[in-house]
Amino acid sequence: MSREVVLAARPVGEPSESDFEIRDAADAVPGDGQVAVRNVFVSVDPYMRGRMTGVRTYVPPFELGQVVDGAAVGRVELSRDERFAEGDWVLSTLGWREAGVASANGLRKLDPSLAPPSTALGVLGTPGFTAWVGLVDIGRIEGGETVYVSGAAGAVGSAAAQIAKLKGCRVIGSAGSAEKVAWLEELGIEAFDYRATSLRDALADGIDVFFDNVGGRQLEAALAALRDFGRVVACGAIAGYNDVEAQPGPRNLAYVVSKRLRIEGFIILDHLDRYPVFAAEVAPWVREGKLQYRETVLDGIDAIPRAFAGLFHGDNVGKMLVRVGPDSLT
Ligand code: NDP
Repeated sequence: MSREVVLAARPVGEPSESDFEIRDAADAVPGDGQVAVRNVFVSVDPYMRGRMTGVRTYVPPFELGQVVDGAAVGRVELSRDERFAEGDWVLSTLGWREAGVASANGLRKLDPSLAPPSTALGVLGTPGFTAWVGLVDIGRIEGGETVYVSGAAGAVGSAAAQIAKLKGCRVIGSAGSAEKVAWLEELGIEAFDYRATSLRDALADGIDVFFDNVGGRQLEAALAALRDFGRVVACGAIAGYNDVEAQPGPRNLAYVVSKRLRIEGFIILDHLDRYPVFAAEVAPWVREGKLQYRETVLDGIDAIPRAFAGLFHGDNVGKMLVRVGPDSLT
């Protein structure tokens, strides 16, 4: 037996623990071409909030009563596919469960001698890849430019801020606590607490690129601070993910015309062909310690709803993960 987390109700406003149910599941047996996996780390991600509303966007919505699927890393327990052996570390989309059976075609084998497996959910996984694509392909940053990153102490943001720095940019980052600001400053980022600082003052020197994870008033402040021909990399808008009614957009959108700005949204799923180029550039930086990462890890499957809700309160520094099982197979 193992346990899994299902969506019990569609959250209205902030997600709460009562929107989820943790239930027992019988262990499934893999068929040909399938692999049984015991999860070690599962990812909780802001985009999952949108999938809980029941509206189809670029991904289908989660159905009520079904396990919340998403990225997870774990160990192969039993393989019916020649590409995988018992004990292998794998990245899957098994999501919020302790164990499950997956098609071998949907798994990526991880080499723990190259990087800790949990990094496949963070700095070397979707968040780090999103940061890199956003800066390189969408923002087209150049050395010497000033880049402002909102949500800069989160999984995507901390990677984006450091990648921009490694590429020779001046980087300003916002985050929601003194602890987060201190970490970003250690990394050489000019950081400020957006709850305690005037956004206008923090961006007074002007910026060339805004890598936006947050939206709302940070977007408005960035539009005012952007120089002519500046770019907005619209990565996320977490400030509005729990809104019951959509908020009016930035009041100063007319700057897009007068300053000839470019605002471009992107979804990382459209850029998967770029993963090898990302990994070739960024994995060595991580190995050499040039690009640092943090993880906030909660323990036990019962902690998943709390970890997920915590994303909207800034509970995480770096990537938010839940450890649902031991590293070793027993
Ligand atoms: P994070 O690790 O950044 O976690 C979320 C953080 O957002 C919190 O820690 C909190 O930090 C901040 N936050 C929460 N609510 C607010 C608010 N109301 N106002 C300002 N900040 C807030 O998550 P990820 O790195 O995984 O994701 C970051 C963004 O990137 C999200 O918007 C996500 O949807 C987006 N994304 C987009 C992808 C794409 O393909 N376009 C792919 C992956 C992610 P703080 O303490 O600083 O407030």
